[in-house]
Amino acid sequence: LNPIYAALPTTVFEVMSGLARHHQAVNLGQGFPDDPGPLDVRQKAADAVVNGWNQYPPMMGLMELRQAAADHYRHWQGLELDPETEIMVTSGATEALAGALMALIEPGDEVVLFQPLYDAYLPLVQRAGGIPRLVRLEPPSWRITEEKLAAAFSPRTKLVLFNNPQNPTGIVHSREEMQLIADFCARYDSLVVSDEVWEHIIFDGRRHLSMMSLPGMRARTVKISSAGKIFGMTGWKVGIVMAQPELMKVLGKAHQFLTFTTPPNLQSAVAYGLTKDDAYFEDMRAGLQRSRDRLAKGLSDLGFPVLPSAGTYFLSVDLAAIDPKLDDEAFCLNLVKNHGVAAIPVSAFYAQDAVRSVVRFCFAKQDATLDAALERLAGAL
Ligand code: PMP
Ligand code: GLN
Repeated sequence: LNPIYAALPTTVFEVMSGLARHHQAVNLGQGFPDDPGPLDVRQKAADAVVNGWNQYPPMMGLMELRQAAADHYRHWQGLELDPETEIMVTSGATEALAGALMALIEPGDEVVLFQPLYDAYLPLVQRAGGIPRLVRLEPPSWRITEEKLAAAFSPRTKLVLFNNPQNPTGIVHSREEMQLIADFCARYDSLVVSDEVWEHIIFDGRRHLSMMSLPGMRARTVKISSAGKIFGMTGWKVGIVMAQPELMKVLGKAHQFLTFTTPPNLQSAVAYGLTKDDAYFEDMRAGLQRSRDRLAKGLSDLGFPVLPSAGTYFLSVDLAAIDPKLDDEAFCLNLVKNHGVAAIPVSAFYAQDAVRSVVRFCFAKQDATLDAALERLAGAL
């Protein structure tokens, strides 16, 4: 048995969703919307299965999707990408992350990661032979500072694994924080694997800034997107990877022996979806922002100290002010068993020195679902 994998617990998302089913709880844990997603995009996928081509699509992805992605990211993020040499389709962002780390890391290379971190990152880095250099971020700002980066970077830093907008905190790191990372990457000749799966879920009139668009970062960034997030259909495992041609060649080598391809019907439906007009994406954002505000207000009214959320499907509460001894995991277990609401303890996203007072809730739900959760939460503090 590989010791890294043998020692891993089951992911907190699976554990909490299992407990939610068992206790018939309202599930605000694992991040997924409770509506079925855009009908026209689903119809495209269905039509493609019935009428179309169900054999292996090209290894790097359907050209219609790679072209649609090039157009989409030019329009939304000002990126100029060659669909032939700089865009690849993978089976979800998860495959893209695994492949990028396998392809870019040599054993002993150091990888800078920010805690709290999306739970797949650390085992993938370690399995690829990377040495994690963890930067610990703290509530309420979760800010990245020059001092923290200086302590983490070294001449052995191969890459930074960066996630923005950030899961689980729901923060959006500023241009200044991103520029600091870019400056360190230039100084140490490092790459950034930039997990931007939440790029469209960003609130209060802000626009997403891709790491790739910062000065000097075009050639140093592997940008990763996820159609599952863009269209709120998280079971659709369609990832989009963008990088300059030299990097893309080796990323393609990893992809060819991980999954090789991604179902063609989903690819053609995503290609169609990416061409939707601005109003579609603005409406999606506005709807999620309303849900964020509904849950934030409801939680505040009940006395939960709510932290700001600027993007993603998530907001969190910091219970330290209510009870300094509180343990987020114990709190969430009690919540799901005795109050019928599932949430995620943020300590699960730390490898060491965990912050243990923060609990994450998913607000990508119908009003009735949020209200039902709030009703049950009324007695939980
Ligand atoms: N990265 C982050 C930060 C995520 O939140 C998620 C999904 N929740 C993923 C990657 C995985 O995306 P996919 O489902 O496309 O594999
Ligand atoms: N990304 C989702 C979340 O953060 C869940 C992903 C998963 O279940 N692996 O809740």
